[in-house]
Amino acid sequence: MVAENAVQYPFEDAAEPGKPQEVAPGIYWVRMPLELTGLDHINLWLLRDGDGWCIVDTGMNTDRIHDLWQEVFDNFLDGRPVTRVFCTHFHPDHMGQAGWLTRHWNCELWMTHREWLQGRVAELDHSDKMPEWQLQFFRNVGCSQTALADMAESSYDYFRKAVTPLPPQVHSVRAGQEIRIGGDDWQVIVGRGHSPEHMCLFNHKARVLISGDQILPRITPHIGLHASEPAANPLQLYLDTLANFDHLPNDTLVLPAHGLPFYRLHPRLAFLRQHHAERLATLEEFCVEPTRVLSTLKVMFQRELNPFEALLGMSESLSHLHCLMGQGRVVRETSDDGVWLFQASDRHADAA
Ligand SMILES: [Zn+2]
Repeated sequence: MVAENAVQYPFEDAAEPGKPQEVAPGIYWVRMPLELTGLDHINLWLLRDGDGWCIVDTGMNTDRIHDLWQEVFDNFLDGRPVTRVFCTHFHPDHMGQAGWLTRHWNCELWMTHREWLQGRVAELDHSDKMPEWQLQFFRNVGCSQTALADMAESSYDYFRKAVTPLPPQVHSVRAGQEIRIGGDDWQVIVGRGHSPEHMCLFNHKARVLISGDQILPRITPHIGLHASEPAANPLQLYLDTLANFDHLPNDTLVLPAHGLPFYRLHPRLAFLRQHHAERLATLEEFCVEPTRVLSTLKVMFQRELNPFEALLGMSESLSHLHCLMGQGRVVRETSDDGVWLFQASDRHADAA
């Protein structure tokens, strides 16, 4: 059994919002406030880059974060410019201010090509209401008519509001690439499953890993199946790409997007693998009979979920069910009314 709290925190207190705190030579922690379910902050990073600065992740498009960045620029940069903006992935808490920051500083956005594209696709979708193909997905999942009617009527501009207009151009980075920042080389390590091509950055000399959302110390990253790719297997991608971090040194300092910087990356990787293995086993056991995704939420989460959490929970449950399908442990059938039903393969064989 791997303990959940196996990590060690070298900094007892979180950095104050908008007040950069040095965590390693030339590497500064900038904490910004968020108002998301279960997330009240995000960690962003400022790296000294010769005569300028690099920003890694940017925060959501809120007035508060905009003002806090402005304070950082006024009080902290020693008159030096921001020369590059990096984003680990396209989620709005990470990419939300990338447009404003790159225009403000007239600098490039560096990120993986798929993440940039995913952000641009989300931004350029100008549907007023949830499109029919998405409603169909939620029908498959087993949402009630009432829930579907609510979804069909709710506004569909969440992403566009959560980001400043995204940069139309990108300087794309690829897995394995070494990027010179200041005097140091940072290697791009790509993780999948939480988002399409999530960039982490590892500094060999300082032994520092900027892990974004891919590896977090206290919560597990959301691994969801989404309507845009209904046959995907994101959890398998996530588990497979965790191996990309296995070779990093034991004394690596991990800088996550949420929570506190931590040591003991390897026990954390072991915990994440074990956590998902346990959830997969629980779900496999639960699906004795053909089972709707919605019915699995009670064993997956073991508490009442509000409607927003239920949507996230459903996509998380689905990613586990698809992982089990990929491993041949669960089969999926569609009921007469178009709802996906999942059943453990051995039970299914018995019933046939
Ligand atoms: Zn994310």
